[in-house]
Amino acid sequence: MTVSLEILLLGPPGAGKGTQAKRIELAHGVPQVSTGEMLRDAVASGSELGERARPIMERGDLVPDELIVEVIRERLGQPDTGKGFILDGFPRTIPQAEALDEMLADIGRRLTVVLDFELDEEEAVLRLAGRAEEEGRTDDDPDVIRRRLNVWRESTLPLTAYYRGRGVLASVDAAHSVDDVYAAVEGVLERVTQ
Ligand code: AMP
Repeated sequence: MTVSLEILLLGPPGAGKGTQAKRIELAHGVPQVSTGEMLRDAVASGSELGERARPIMERGDLVPDELIVEVIRERLGQPDTGKGFILDGFPRTIPQAEALDEMLADIGRRLTVVLDFELDEEEAVLRLAGRAEEEGRTDDDPDVIRRRLNVWRESTLPLTAYYRGRGVLASVDAAHSVDDVYAAVEGVLERVTQ
């Protein structure tokens, strides 16, 4: 068994990363680090970060790399990440991934596995539209959903090749129920932590 579990989740918006992250957190005792949730909290609290992020998030664009990298640097310095973490929504660009590589090297850690949740875009749109009704997120509006998927395809999808090249990528078919996807996730985690 490895002593710590550093997990990174990739996949389009709507693939279920947040839901799976919460289940992994519960089962393995390592915290979910969701930049989307952190930013939504910042918006709700009216902090300076929130004020900067709000209009960008409402359009479905990405907040600047420098801004989010600082948020993550601070977060990964907190003691609850000592046994690992589940990165959900970060990195979203190649420069963010490079910044993460540096941060991890600085603290002598490396990624245990990158779980790539595969879901086709049409299915992602349907799921996000459903979530819009349930949660009322302002960025779950149809035009913003399209924009977020375009941004994901252009800026974030290249991370799959980036991490495949590093030999840490494991694909998970996300087009199944939460329980079935989680079973696949556990299968991967068992394999990589042996
Ligand atoms: P999420 O909940 O992960 O879908 O994130 C919601 C929104 O927060 C995104 O559409 C972006 O505007 C912003 N965001 C979250 N994570 C990042 C990131 N790593 N880089 C830039 N923007 C982000």
